[in-house]
Amino acid sequence: MEKLRIALVGNPNSGKTTLFNELTGANQTVGNWPGVTVEKKEGVLKGHKDVIIADLPGIYSLSPYTLEEVVSRKYIIDEKPDAIINIVDATNIERNLYLTTQAMELGIPVVIALNMMDRVEKSADKIDINALSKKMGCKVVGISALKKTGIKELCEIAIDLAKNAEGQEAIKFSPETEEVITKIENLLSEDVDARIRRWLAIKNFENDKEVAAQTREMLEIIKAYEEKMDDDGESIITDERYTAITTILKDCYQKEKKKMTTSDKIDRIVTNRILALPIFVLIMIGVYFVTVTTIGTIVTDFTNDVLVGEWIQAPISAGLESIGCADWLNGLLVDGIIGGVGAVIGFIPQMIILFFFLAILEDIGYMARVAFIMDRIFRKFGMSGKSFIPMLIGTGCGIPGIMASRTIENQRDRRMSIMTVTFMPCGAKLPIIALIAGAVFNGTWWVAPLAYFIGIAAVVITGIMLKKTRLFAGEAAPFIIELPAYHIPIGRNIGRSIFDRTWAFAKKAFTVILITSVLIWFLTSFGVEGGFHMVEDVSESMLYNIGNAVAFIFAPLGFDQWQSVAATVTGLAAKENIVGTFGVLTSIGDADVATEMVDNVDVAGLAPIAAIFGSKLAAMSFMIFNLLCAPCFAAMSTIGAEMRSKKWTAFAIAYECGFAYLISLIVYQVGRLVQGYGFGVGSVFGIAGIVFLVFMLVRKPSKGVKIETAANAA
Ligand code: GDP
Ligand code: MG
Repeated sequence: MEKLRIALVGNPNSGKTTLFNELTGANQTVGNWPGVTVEKKEGVLKGHKDVIIADLPGIYSLSPYTLEEVVSRKYIIDEKPDAIINIVDATNIERNLYLTTQAMELGIPVVIALNMMDRVEKSADKIDINALSKKMGCKVVGISALKKTGIKELCEIAIDLAKNAEGQEAIKFSPETEEVITKIENLLSEDVDARIRRWLAIKNFENDKEVAAQTREMLEIIKAYEEKMDDDGESIITDERYTAITTILKDCYQKEKKKMTTSDKIDRIVTNRILALPIFVLIMIGVYFVTVTTIGTIVTDFTNDVLVGEWIQAPISAGLESIGCADWLNGLLVDGIIGGVGAVIGFIPQMIILFFFLAILEDIGYMARVAFIMDRIFRKFGMSGKSFIPMLIGTGCGIPGIMASRTIENQRDRRMSIMTVTFMPCGAKLPIIALIAGAVFNGTWWVAPLAYFIGIAAVVITGIMLKKTRLFAGEAAPFIIELPAYHIPIGRNIGRSIFDRTWAFAKKAFTVILITSVLIWFLTSFGVEGGFHMVEDVSESMLYNIGNAVAFIFAPLGFDQWQSVAATVTGLAAKENIVGTFGVLTSIGDADVATEMVDNVDVAGLAPIAAIFGSKLAAMSFMIFNLLCAPCFAAMSTIGAEMRSKKWTAFAIAYECGFAYLISLIVYQVGRLVQGYGFGVGSVFGIAGIVFLVFMLVRKPSKGVKIETAANAA
């Protein structure tokens, strides 16, 4: 039997994904900001094997101005679902119905799912659903996707509509406009399907660049009417839609007198022009402080030292020895695999804590405010707050962050966003930060938050610098973000968000990180000089030789020890490898490996890993470089997929590495000057680096050619 297909269409943040998950039992991420669902997702309706539900991206209209609109419209027109569930946020009914008026024109039966009725019922708003249904000329069901009310009735109606497939009557405009539309409709080719004739006529009238193909006669009719109304076709239709909505709602909807809600009161403070940024900074300091410095450290120390070290590594090693296991096998299992993978797994508790806080901030609605606050800052140099949303997502993992850049219409800004998203410290970079903060800086409170703000600063600095170049110049597109009312975090959303993010990470521990750990162990335990052999002393090992051979590249940044060089390289496969590599290296020779090669200063009293670096400054430079340089292979291939251009992909990766190098160079060289190590060749490069950076930041912008984008054309 043919399967029935039902599409979910609605504004961003109207609850589509919540409803989709409820209908299909899927586990799509529910985000409290627009742009989370970029692609359509399909799922089978629970209890109805023959019904498929498609969750389309959130849109405000069916015009072709944003990628989301194009994706949604293409799906509806080309794939002709059997019915549309139009999800309408009942607390924002006027604006949501704008899309409804368009959805009803596509010749596909529509049922309105009036969502968030739980909130309407708590407020003083009054909606007469029956009257609304009559006036709209389509079925309306009040539901709460969150509280799971009305869902069954909605499904029954949707399936019924899909089976009987009566086309939907559209909402009528003023008689004059209707007359013009009818005239255009009659001029359309006979082949055009009767169901979409009205839609196509309106699109021709609006001069919609994707589908309009007016004949000369049509153009004359349109021009005459535009002159009469003294407005362009598109604006005339927009007016008609809002007029129709106002008329419909007049008798069936009563809005509560606008009071200052609790959300508004909170927003007066958190989005305040002066206070917003300090509050955001304080919140993130708090998050990273708790994650990395307080609770996080206690848990991670336990997993690392007691669980992995004492309870797992030691007894297994002793056991293997007692059964007469070969030394190399003992080493491979205990130092290589358990040492490497264990070092990474040890950080999972910390990661869960970070993801917990991020999920809460997102779910209660705070992160949407942050995008709004950032819009004011980003706009100053020509980017919009929309570019900040991928960064927020990228704080979990860079890959979905890079993909979220798709929602940015302006191609130049999209490219810039793809290039800069991974400056944000993702979950996999957290262990590096925690390691440096803990092992080298003895858990100083400011190291972890600093890493986060370095990420944001890198994006802002890049934005300012590149916006001045011809390649990226251009005005910021307008940014509309709806600030959802604050609400108590929902356990299920938080749990899912933490699980999804942590699971992706745990999977890596047993694949990429396992393999890399074995490789690092192998390269450290064997040497080739004078024949292939297991080495007594690491300085005969292959890794020692390879690391030292390329170390000169990082010497100006202060971390030319073979261990940190090897860690940096393995970090390209996955950032967790950096910690895994240190785990293997310190397991193999304990403190000796680390301290052996260090002839530098102030190492006394620091843990073996700290001793590798020789100085706090070098460790800081190492951390910054690894936070900012090219992300892991998986993220790099995502950059490639999203850039859809080899040239731009190469540019992005080269820029990231170059930028990371420049910043680390400045930090290390200028840091040494400040610490009183005297002026040397390195200092010259460090100062030249600052001069270059400042010049790029303050120079006069290049004009640049005018950009062709949907937003500009609009
Ligand atoms: P989408 O952008 O349309 O996919 O919307 P989401 O499903 O991601 O939901 C946006 C926000 O609205 C989330 O914080 C949801 O928890 C919340 N939400 C969704 N449906 C309801 C509902 O029926 N009642 C209430 N109170 N909140 C809801
Ligand atoms: Mg969604």
